[in-house]
Amino acid sequence: MKPHILIIYTGGTIGMIEDTESKVLKPFDFTHLMENVPKVKMLDYVIDNIQFAEPIDSSDMDIPHWQAIARHIVDNYENYDGFVVLHGTDTMAYTASALSFMLENLRKPVIITGSQLPIGEVRTDGEENLITALQIAAATDHAGRPVVQEVAILFENYLWRGNRSTKLSADNFNAFKSNNYPALAKIGLDIYYDFDALARPKSEPPLNPRYDMDPNVASIDLFPGPTETALRHQLSIPGVKGIVLRTYGAGNAPTAKWFHDAIREAIERGVIILNVTQCSNGAVLQRYEGGEKLSSLGVISGRDITYEAAITKLMFLLGMGLSPHAIRKYLNTALCGEVTVTPPSLRRSPHSRHYYE
Ligand code: ASP
Repeated sequence: MKPHILIIYTGGTIGMIEDTESKVLKPFDFTHLMENVPKVKMLDYVIDNIQFAEPIDSSDMDIPHWQAIARHIVDNYENYDGFVVLHGTDTMAYTASALSFMLENLRKPVIITGSQLPIGEVRTDGEENLITALQIAAATDHAGRPVVQEVAILFENYLWRGNRSTKLSADNFNAFKSNNYPALAKIGLDIYYDFDALARPKSEPPLNPRYDMDPNVASIDLFPGPTETALRHQLSIPGVKGIVLRTYGAGNAPTAKWFHDAIREAIERGVIILNVTQCSNGAVLQRYEGGEKLSSLGVISGRDITYEAAITKLMFLLGMGLSPHAIRKYLNTALCGEVTVTPPSLRRSPHSRHYYE
């Protein structure tokens, strides 16, 4: 049996062409993209495709687009062995995180990729990324099970867990990284999978899609010298139910009383606040007075979650219409490998490959 793969083309640089007048890159259609990758025919796969009616630059990505991608996967889940989503790099990590939450109990590969240079350019990285993504989406183990059973980002030399990924470079072909989780695979002469890092679900419950996402989230970035007026404004944006508070280092924040009062009052009004570090690597550990105080006020530790996963997890949990108590519980739980919940004292050295088990 040939592997059956469904490509979902949303847009992004990979399929863009230069506008002859303005010289800016604009999304183009899927036929153009595939014409530029004749090598795909060398893969002995059955490949079908679906494309957005209007391919987009991923800076226009939003919740209805995520719902459309998720629906395409769900509607075609039984007919394909794997899915490849072609997407712009700018918001790829948000889409990967959102899909990982929406596609509960996913047991097939959803591989998201794109490129830094359009597929029609001589030095494009798009051809290699597309072909490798297709190979990963088709890969099975000795028992015929999909090697990848989660949402992942393939870019240049690495396969990353989608909800652990961040766009790192606007220039480098290795544009993505998981700062707090090992690569799921390294791409060299062969594709070398790390079976300790890949998600391996223990039971086989059926795919359980959840499409509702609540957009009423916001984020606050700390910097030295904030004013009380600005902070209070940000904490009381009309309609906002969940806030990602981007703190210093290991989750640290100012110790001033007015700061704590403003945070406490927001929590008393029912706003969920999730503490996520501004550092690209490491976790919120509440090692210092400022961070410890936040936790005593009811701010939830985001541990080592990425900003992208924090925002989309809040959207997801709020979208389920859960009580604040239940939302707090799930923010303290790894839903699909997005956060390390093992107490720091039980973790192995960060230099060990198994640190994030
Ligand atoms: N602006 C593009 C996008 O995100 C960038 C890219 O695809 O690399 O759609």
